[in-house]
Amino acid sequence: MTTITPHWLDGAPFEGTHEKTSPIYNPATGEVIAELAHATPDEVETIIASSKKASESWSQVSLAKRTAILFRFRELLVEHTDELAEIVTREHGKVLSDAKGEIARGLEVVEFACGIPQLLKGEFSEQAATGIDVYSFRQPVGVVAGITPFNFPVMIPLWMSPVAIATGNTFILKPPGRDPGAGMFLAELWKRAGLPDGVFNVVHGDRNVIGRLLTHPDVDAISFVGATTTAKIIFETGTKHGKRVQALGAAKNHGLVLADADLDSTVNNLIAAAYGAAGERCMALPVAVVQEEIADELVARLVAKAKQVKVGPGTAPDVDMGPVISEQAKARITGLIDSAEAEGAEILVDGRGHVVEGYESGWFLGPTIVDKVNPEMTINKEEVFGPTLEIIRVTSLEEGIALINANQYGNGTAIFTSSGEAARTFTRAVQVGMVGVNVPIPVPVAWHSFGGWKESLVGETHIYGPEGVKFYTRGKVVTQRWPKQSGAVSFHFSGDSQK
Ligand code: NAD
Repeated sequence: MTTITPHWLDGAPFEGTHEKTSPIYNPATGEVIAELAHATPDEVETIIASSKKASESWSQVSLAKRTAILFRFRELLVEHTDELAEIVTREHGKVLSDAKGEIARGLEVVEFACGIPQLLKGEFSEQAATGIDVYSFRQPVGVVAGITPFNFPVMIPLWMSPVAIATGNTFILKPPGRDPGAGMFLAELWKRAGLPDGVFNVVHGDRNVIGRLLTHPDVDAISFVGATTTAKIIFETGTKHGKRVQALGAAKNHGLVLADADLDSTVNNLIAAAYGAAGERCMALPVAVVQEEIADELVARLVAKAKQVKVGPGTAPDVDMGPVISEQAKARITGLIDSAEAEGAEILVDGRGHVVEGYESGWFLGPTIVDKVNPEMTINKEEVFGPTLEIIRVTSLEEGIALINANQYGNGTAIFTSSGEAARTFTRAVQVGMVGVNVPIPVPVAWHSFGGWKESLVGETHIYGPEGVKFYTRGKVVTQRWPKQSGAVSFHFSGDSQK
């Protein structure tokens, strides 16, 4: 009998009715490994009601107790990293070491949230007017729903939930339908860390379930990460229904390689950033914008390295790159490579049709290098989200910056150079939210915030770090006086009696 992945309610699995289910696959074999239960409208209602009820008590729990739970959660994540990584690899396909990498980056956010007493300290103005003190502090918004993408099934729920929970909110996770297992495992770890029932719930389902979360009066805030088209729907629907929404979208990141770059390290960085996780990272670097005079040499080295990338199931110890997430994703990526070829680009390394022995039904693609791309080609305009590396040649730093700025997305970018002056010009002029200098994947550490510009972000709020704390809380300012005796009535706005 097929295993059904249940929801999570009040600290335990919640089977529901299974009226509707969808398959969960192992991308390395193409086999169905479980079925996912989709929540009915009544079940969504039950889960939201539990989160609402829990928020009344959780918001009153002391910072000391909340922090103690976060520390325990952190320890459990470390202890169970191997188990969690295996779930990620089984459902997503990425190699085990990479799955552990995403857990480590998520762990950073948990550690950041362990410092919540410091982050929520507030401000105090003594004697703002005679006999009057003013203080400000932040309080939780209530119930937060987190809607997350398939490509980081652990890290992205951990970009959201530790900060939301530490600030006193309850959290409903809507994990990706393709790889929901990691989200369920996180629910179990939260429970074992001592989190009260109902503070972290999980609901599965399609756009009908999400629609309910976006419009329900008892959901106060929505955190979303995924494609831009989805981010726009989420933002528009959520804000229309009076919720605060943070919505991070798609990406098309370019790395500019100047003639004075250290070629050995640049080649290694470009290969890792293009093919790691089979290119299914919003901070992948799928386009190298290369200064003409070194382009031929760089491309020759990239071709040699790309041919050495070992493709196979993510569980195999010596594999660099696993399969892509689905048959549809494989067909879409192949179609974009076809389009580049048809539009005049040169395919120097061709990953289409790559077969892994013993895994013939898996959704594998080999590394691909597409040279002589021009910015107008379809492949450069669209997010590929697969193991492709495009090469675009430019004559100067300025041309490279202009080309990057002309792209609709602005999530991440990098410059490879040994010139501090060029790097400074680039970091100041480029219209992208996260910039690396000789760092190919500049995902900010947890005490900064993460977010892109332009079509990579809908609305204005970045995620985790200080912006996360602000997003999950509302400010309150108290002006207080403890008069010995009441004075005369003052009708002035900032009454003379207050000065
Ligand atoms: P997706 O937008 O298809 O799905 C994300 C979530 O939204 C899932 O939980 C899904 O169930 C839900 N969803 C999908 N369609 C919906 C709809 N019409 N209405 C309501 N909800 C819907 O994204 P994906 O394919 O899971 O993830 C890949 C995308 O995510 C890529 O575009 C990638 O760049 C982006 N991404 C961005 C970041 C970032 O930080 N900016 C990080 C990771 C991934």
